[in-house]
Amino acid sequence: MRTVLLNKPGDFLLTETEAPPAPLPGQAMVRVRRVGVCGTDFHAFRGDQPFFSYPRILGHELGVEVISVGSGESDLRAGDLCAVEPYLNCGTCVSCRRGRPNCCVYLKCLGVHIDGGMRELINVPLAKLHRSERLSLDQLALVETLGIGAHAVERASLEPGESVLIIGAGPIGLSIIQFAQLANVRIMVVDTNQERLQFCQRFLQVDRVACAGSSAVAALKDFTSEDFPTVVFDATGNSQSMMQAFDFVANSGRLVLVGLVLGDVSFSDPDAHRRELTLLCSRNSTPTTFNRVISLIEAGKIDTTPWITHRAPMERMIKEFPAWLDPNMKVIKAMVDMDPD
Ligand SMILES: [Zn+2]
Ligand SMILES: [Zn+2]
Repeated sequence: MRTVLLNKPGDFLLTETEAPPAPLPGQAMVRVRRVGVCGTDFHAFRGDQPFFSYPRILGHELGVEVISVGSGESDLRAGDLCAVEPYLNCGTCVSCRRGRPNCCVYLKCLGVHIDGGMRELINVPLAKLHRSERLSLDQLALVETLGIGAHAVERASLEPGESVLIIGAGPIGLSIIQFAQLANVRIMVVDTNQERLQFCQRFLQVDRVACAGSSAVAALKDFTSEDFPTVVFDATGNSQSMMQAFDFVANSGRLVLVGLVLGDVSFSDPDAHRRELTLLCSRNSTPTTFNRVISLIEAGKIDTTPWITHRAPMERMIKEFPAWLDPNMKVIKAMVDMDPD
């Protein structure tokens, strides 16, 4: 079967690999029909993700069609369209026992730690398939990305009327905005990129945007009548931004770190303590969140139309991928169409 292999940084290869065996009990064989591409894939391609090993089949944002189901209890049938929760968890560690498979001690993410979905067929655990009769394949492939924002917003336990700051308007920031809006909060977005900010205003109607820097602090004070926001989300994955985010939280507020950085983040204890600041990290999302995201898209409460800016079939993806890394290309989400031409 046709497979896109990331042989080493900067080197994609369209090759043939063995089709998977018949699915074991508790598994399904699925045909991968859409693969969303995100920052993790760009890091893997650039080779600046130290814990990434090569060669690797990328692809963790998947819209799939069920081909066959192994024996065992399941209401999934051939032909069903599903989103795939790519976080393979152990089921027995402390976090799994507490219903938090998203941060399993032994978590392996498809397309990151183990081979993912940039191939025609893959076997996945039945429990990781989330079916929808209404979502398009593109929308199903967006569920994972949207789940990151949905979970971060769940972590924050937003209350109506709160003032919220979202730092970083990349795909993670955008998904946080969309789910925070459902909680009826006031939203300000800060980013270094003017075009992304304009996008937030035009397509997502956020209450306020500001370019990162000293003027952002003035705008933030103005936005909150000098109170500062009670919730700050950092979606930059930039340690300087993450450290500075501590200073933007109101007394009694919470800070949610969504973007991840491979390094240390430090803060002033007296400053944090005085404010009785709550620090939350947000990682991946849970099965419940996957189902909730699907229901919200089905109900028309989450609009996926602004998301997909680029699209290519497998062969063309290999050629175009390096260009997608260029900020001038203004990629929000690139979608790989795996269906045969
Ligand atoms: Zn992703
Ligand atoms: Zn576990």
